[in-house]
Amino acid sequence: MEKSIQYALESLDRNYIDIFLMHAAKATPSVFEERAAALQCLNDYKAKGTIRAIGISTHVIGIVKRATEIKEIDIIFPIINKLGMGIVNGSVDDMVQAISEAHKAGKGLYAMKALAGGHLIDQLEESFNFVRNIKGITSIAVGMVNQEELEINLKIFNDEKIPQELLSQKIKPSKRLFISRFCKGCGTCVEACPSHALSLKNGKAVVDHQLCILCGYCNPVCPEFAIRII
Ligand code: SF4
Ligand code: SF4
Repeated sequence: MEKSIQYALESLDRNYIDIFLMHAAKATPSVFEERAAALQCLNDYKAKGTIRAIGISTHVIGIVKRATEIKEIDIIFPIINKLGMGIVNGSVDDMVQAISEAHKAGKGLYAMKALAGGHLIDQLEESFNFVRNIKGITSIAVGMVNQEELEINLKIFNDEKIPQELLSQKIKPSKRLFISRFCKGCGTCVEACPSHALSLKNGKAVVDHQLCILCGYCNPVCPEFAIRII
């Protein structure tokens, strides 16, 4: 963790970091015990003023609930979208409830995957507004690839009408997951996918694009470097 903090400071060319997240998509709620040393390291740097807030990102409702109880955690970055895609161990309503409890406990919350990895691209306003209206959510992480997307998103987040000429520029998901012929069918990626989008067929991994939210948790675990998101 110390190396990661130093790396982040050098890469960002800053002498402090506003929010440092532990990433824990597939972890169990015991993540805080399992990673106690990492959390302690973050705490030490927070005490020195090098880190302003400590957080955790997660797809798992149980981790949102557990993080709510951990006093060292200032920020929770949960997956939430109106389809419930990517949420592990519960429904949209369960996640909204967990977010509400975390908010009441004084945690800062910002949302991940409000557009479900591009699946809700045709319902931009409804999808963003669904997440914006969840009590406790104060920010939403949004990926954008061009100026038109930025302008549309600014209109939505400022509650302004979107001009027709902007809307007519169809925004498309810019990425897709590919599995190459180098796949050996080991199944490691299947285990790593929180959305159950991967399976093995005829000795090779296959992806269900209807379930894939492009979270990127599968490609680093592939020993054959067979998964690409491009
Ligand atoms: S981890 Fe890689 S090699 Fe293993 S099944 Fe998945 S894509 Fe194939
Ligand atoms: S990017 Fe990989 S891990 Fe994430 S949902 Fe898609 S297939 Fe699953």
